[in-house]
Amino acid sequence: MGNATFNVAVIEGDGIGPDVIAATRAVIEAAQARVGGFSLNFDYHDAGAGYYAEHGRDMAPGSEEGVAEADAILLGAIGLPHIRATDGTEIAPHLRLRENMQLYAGVRPVKAYPNGPQKLAAPEAAKIDFIVLRESTEGLFYSAAVHGRTDIANDDEVQDILRITRPTTEKLHDFAFRLAQKRKRRGSPGLVTCVDKANVFQSMALFRKIFHERAAAFPDIETSTNYVDAQALDLIRRPWAFDVLVMENMFGDILSDLAGGLVGGMGMASCAEIGDSHGLFQPAHGSAPDIAGEDKANPLAAILSGALMLDYLGERHGVEQLTNAALEIESAVERAFAAGEMRPMEFGGDQGTKALTKALLAVLG
Ligand code: ATP
Repeated sequence: MGNATFNVAVIEGDGIGPDVIAATRAVIEAAQARVGGFSLNFDYHDAGAGYYAEHGRDMAPGSEEGVAEADAILLGAIGLPHIRATDGTEIAPHLRLRENMQLYAGVRPVKAYPNGPQKLAAPEAAKIDFIVLRESTEGLFYSAAVHGRTDIANDDEVQDILRITRPTTEKLHDFAFRLAQKRKRRGSPGLVTCVDKANVFQSMALFRKIFHERAAAFPDIETSTNYVDAQALDLIRRPWAFDVLVMENMFGDILSDLAGGLVGGMGMASCAEIGDSHGLFQPAHGSAPDIAGEDKANPLAAILSGALMLDYLGERHGVEQLTNAALEIESAVERAFAAGEMRPMEFGGDQGTKALTKALLAVLG
């Protein structure tokens, strides 16, 4: 029997995007060669601010349809502050993809690596390993995601909408519980914490109500609830006590940055955006124009996003080798840090993008 083959749509994008994608592809292909049993076709699509400046559109003709047909989308970074659309906003076709494909589950892992750039002095901080699961299509970004959704917007008053719907929230919480089950099989405690403000907002009370409803179907997973302000405190006080944190869009936007700061910086922040039938994988950082083209970017956020992509494909298509390739990459990053082989310039080390990738490939074997 031939290898299972999957199509990956690649958008390198702007700034450091092409550099971190090149690193990610090299690492994915090394893991693939090691594990075997699957093939990937990488299909490149032009998109982003640079493309817009040259061609007057943010994606190449046919690319929007092309990426939608792929099995997964791998994205570098999009946007350059000095290139704007006619309405003054930055070029952001990925936000349109997120909306059109309804990528409601934003998965943002937060993990402390040995010798990594931890910011907390407590010894338990070495054990930080949790996921911020950010709803990504509604919540307080509902008005922001698509133009024209704001009811009142004039010079005297603006009302943005915080929208929580039952169908999306049910899917989100189910996703959180299934993620906790998967992590539990790999040694995590199996705990989902609902982060909300259910004591103040009706929308958040509904969010929490649905959380408890869905929890009943996952008796093997422990649950807890936390108000978002208390959660901010707990992310500094005892971040090692959490496993999967599920929350609405704006809370997730803010807390995932805070959480990312605990274990380093943007160069470590991987991200998966998953819907019912599509998955988009990209580092949570931007295009970092200040270091673009200088071989200084830390590619680990992109590489770890690539591992999330392999894990997603493995689970969705029942191909164990893909899951194993994802685990190989994660384990190689962990071992490389432990051996002092990961020294990104971002954290004052001596390794640029290429040197770090080479060191990781050596550990991956
Ligand atoms: P966006 O709004 O598009 O997310 P941003 O304005 O928040 O972008 P980034 O492009 O993420 O900003 O950059 C913020 C800072 O972090 C910059 O100083 C940048 O150089 C740094 N940075 C971001 N990503 C990386 C990386 N992978 N490696 C090293 N430094 C990075």
